Amino acid sequence: MPTCKLCGRSFDTLTELYVHLSSECNKIPRSRRCPVCGSKYRSIRFMKHHLINEAFIESKHMSYLISI
Ligand SMILES: [Zn+2]
Ligand SMILES: [Zn+2]
Repeated sequence: MPTCKLCGRSFDTLTELYVHLSSECNKIPRSRRCPVCGSKYRSIRFMKHHLINEAFIESKHMSYLISI
């Protein structure tokens, strides 16, 4: 079952988990620097966007956010 590693909630599908991360998870770091790869962004919103998008395609970001 896909689980949000940050807050511990589980979901039926990965899609629901991604929606959770992008809209309502309040445990995503409030930082302009990505905690996984160290890239810096103009705003917290951009960093969050990066983190969630990368998790779709890249395993390091994925394992930071998600456990399946
Ligand atoms: Zn969460
Ligand atoms: Zn990153």
